[in-house]
Amino acid sequence: MAVFDCDTIVVGGGIAGLGAAMTLKKKGQTVRLLESRGYLGGAMLTVPDQGYLLEFGPNSLMASADEPLMAWIRETGLEGRILPASPEGRNRFILRDGKLLPLPCSVVSFLRSPLLSWKGKIRLMREWGVPPRTDGGEESLGHFVRRRLGDEALLYLADPFVKGVYASDPDLLSVGAAFPVLRELERRHGGLFRGAVARLIKKRKSSPSLVPSGLFSFPGGMGEMVSAFESYMGDDAGVNAEVIKWTMLEEEGFQVGLMYDDQEYYMTSRNLILATSAPDAGEILRAFLEGPSGELESIPYAPLAICYAGFSREKVAHRLDGFGILCPTVENRKILGVIFSSSLFPERSPDGKVLLTVFVGGMTAQKLAHAFDEDLERIVLGELKDLLGTVGKPDFFRIQRWERAIPQYVLGHGERIRSIRSGLPPRLRLAGNYLEGVSVAKTFASGVKAAEEILAL
Ligand SMILES: Cc1cc2nc3c(=O)[nH]c(=O)nc-3n(C[C@H](O)[C@H](O)[C@H](O)COP(=O)(O)OP(=O)(O)OC[C@H]3O[C@@H](n4cnc5c(N)ncnc54)[C@H](O)[C@@H]3O)c2cc1C
Repeated sequence: MAVFDCDTIVVGGGIAGLGAAMTLKKKGQTVRLLESRGYLGGAMLTVPDQGYLLEFGPNSLMASADEPLMAWIRETGLEGRILPASPEGRNRFILRDGKLLPLPCSVVSFLRSPLLSWKGKIRLMREWGVPPRTDGGEESLGHFVRRRLGDEALLYLADPFVKGVYASDPDLLSVGAAFPVLRELERRHGGLFRGAVARLIKKRKSSPSLVPSGLFSFPGGMGEMVSAFESYMGDDAGVNAEVIKWTMLEEEGFQVGLMYDDQEYYMTSRNLILATSAPDAGEILRAFLEGPSGELESIPYAPLAICYAGFSREKVAHRLDGFGILCPTVENRKILGVIFSSSLFPERSPDGKVLLTVFVGGMTAQKLAHAFDEDLERIVLGELKDLLGTVGKPDFFRIQRWERAIPQYVLGHGERIRSIRSGLPPRLRLAGNYLEGVSVAKTFASGVKAAEEILAL
């Protein structure tokens, strides 16, 4: 029988790779988690700078009590460190006709809100009577929302929401792949309102959960979760280790070639999990699996530039009493939105200062994500002045760029993923945010799923 260096090699130390590696380790497998950067966590990176706590990736997360991530938060002793977002975080502002309007969160506030015209509100409420689509064909989110809720709901509700989650355009995304819940509500219950009511009744009947159901982070930011997971992995995780090649061994296992400290090393394992971005997985697979490799490389990603602006409190006119603002495409702004980071969680900025996190670029403004630093700063400060009434220069300004920030679940995505998976050898699995959803919780779950499939072999 073949002897391998370990049972499973996991490539990529983001949240997906951590989910896979921790699951395997807990079940008694020998695992090596290999990460090319000098730190674990991937996009989940918290950086302290001049008294500000910057989230380079996710600002917060949401997970229901039964999701694997919550089990691991408990397992690694983090439950007591959970920091729910401030109650104000429920307020979100949407820009309409240059004004910031609170997103209505009750029927009464919806009826009173100027966010949609009366015509738009009546069209949205007529959703009850819109028959479900039965042909089973694929549909863009834009088409789905237009069909069920009307044009105005698309422009001022769906579009900004899609910008906030996918940095994208509703007409680009597949509703079935990007928002499977919406399609499911229509299929099962005949519509979104009918489905929402059915879900509400079901939720009331189930026992209440002790775990917060809203947004949360940790006092030290999202990086605190990465540190806890890193401790769990101990010496089984290695950084600065870039996997550059692999081969399949005759005995069914894998040999992986990696660069560490400018030297090439080889390791063997019975199983292999690639938990990188789709194009990185495609590059690793290219030499032996051309089909899946090409399909992985063709998954589009939205680029983002994230700007952090720290102001003295009195230099911002807006009350910053909320999560932040989203700018619908029709409003023609140069930014996608702003998170009021220091309102959402305490100790994100020095005393007397506020921290604003501004998102630029995405699928609808890719060029802006690549603008020169000085242009980006000028654009962002101009928008903040217009939208939030900031005065003068900020005390602090920093930019972080992600070329592949968010994978796009475009039309055909589901079929593409099925085709990629069917072309892989049985002991090779994929994990990452392009598979089961882009959120931290769903990405983590993709790693757990890959590990469970390996364990079931
Ligand atoms: C700016 C931003 C804001 C976000 N905000 C939120 C939010 O508020 N809430 C939320 O739930 N989600 C949010 N997300 C989404 C979520 O954070 C990501 O989807 C998730 O963290 C991605 O995890 P991952 O493991 O799939 O990929 P990554 O984090 O990209 O990890 C992949 C890792 O693989 C490594 N790698 C690549 N190639 C190799 C190789 N050859 N050898 C070894 N290692 C390799 C990379 O270095 C990387 O560390 C946000 C994302 C971004 C970018």
